[in-house]
Amino acid sequence: MTTVTERTQAGVMNALDVHRIRADFPILGIRPRGKPLVYLDSAATSQKPRQVIDALRRYYEEENGNIHRGVHYLSELATARYDETREAVRRFINAADVREVVFTRNTTESVNLVASSFGQAFVRSGDEIVVSIMEHHSNLVPWQLLAERTGAVIRAVPVTDRGELDLEAFGRLLSHRTRIVALTWVSNALGTVNPVRRIVEMAHARGVPVLLDGAQAAPHLAIDVQAVGCDFLAFSGHKMLGPTGVGILYARGDWFDRLPPYQGGGDMIETVTIERTTFARPPSRFEAGTPDIANVVAFRAAIEYLEQVGLDAVQRHEHLLLGEATVRVGAMPGVRVIGTAPEKAGVLSFTMEGVHPHDIATILDQHGVAIRAGHHCTQPLMARFGCGATARASFYLYNTLDDVAALATALESVHQVFG
Ligand code: PLP
Repeated sequence: MTTVTERTQAGVMNALDVHRIRADFPILGIRPRGKPLVYLDSAATSQKPRQVIDALRRYYEEENGNIHRGVHYLSELATARYDETREAVRRFINAADVREVVFTRNTTESVNLVASSFGQAFVRSGDEIVVSIMEHHSNLVPWQLLAERTGAVIRAVPVTDRGELDLEAFGRLLSHRTRIVALTWVSNALGTVNPVRRIVEMAHARGVPVLLDGAQAAPHLAIDVQAVGCDFLAFSGHKMLGPTGVGILYARGDWFDRLPPYQGGGDMIETVTIERTTFARPPSRFEAGTPDIANVVAFRAAIEYLEQVGLDAVQRHEHLLLGEATVRVGAMPGVRVIGTAPEKAGVLSFTMEGVHPHDIATILDQHGVAIRAGHHCTQPLMARFGCGATARASFYLYNTLDDVAALATALESVHQVFG
């Protein structure tokens, strides 16, 4: 009989060469508080490979200019580099056309863009917006602001005790009043992977468009927006090996043509007189002002890195780590795992009887183990599970079984401190 660890180790070895991958991430070599870094907070932000850091440096050393406005060499080069990333994003999510891809600052801004522009065009008093109890505040608060402005009503899909969306309840919430469905693809606090294809089918059967929050999906799953059929997809570059400051909003087909601008300014116009402005075609219409050119350019290296490793291999690897961590941490006395859906990404959320999650995270930090503790910007979800906060370990392609072992060992020391 092989142990879980042996089976897991064999599986990991077959799937990914993690040690080679780790060598690409300079930060994994630091020693916080004199201990090797065990980074288990990738759901908050991922670390960056040398390829991304090099692309950023190269941009500033050799390619920097403002885009779309110059005829000189550097302006043309920067424009070409910026547009190459847009094409890389299109390919990465299998969008039909680059004009379906807009760059924002982050997932939060992408959702705000839709809430604002879609809201202005299509949402009126008495209309309903369907979200869920498991949404990150980024995919809840923008809709609440819209509801306040318009008199629309928020309806929230409940979650089961295992942390799955209650699809029957979702079906019942859809009505002739529903204007849009805005749901997360993967829960950052539970790890649950939601059945997005089914969700889109159900909503589309009622003629309702769907926005998916892909912040925790894009880093970990192979995404095919045409297969899923969603109308909008929002995600952040910094959670998928890319730099901060880069968000993506995908809108299917002619959605961007049907939405009014989000922000006004340079680059999003066609003609301007003092009286009136006509607007550029998408995606420019939604990219007012100088964007985060350098980080967008460097983001292409992150996409190419993930493509080279392969999202299926990343997913298998995380699954094995999660399985091992769930067995080891879940077996500890007083531990309650929050989020036990069969379909999960690499997120392990838990509480420990008699110990505040912040104390867990603080003690683990003394061991060089970085996890997150708190409400994870999901306060309605925490209320649903009757806990104000959880401790959360999240895994990515550079984590190893040694990291899982370090987590377990450090958690044992929490027990010793709190008896
Ligand atoms: N949605 C989910 C599911 C998230 O996990 C996060 C960040 O943790 C966000 C949205 C917000 O992402 P950002 O802060 O990059 O806008």
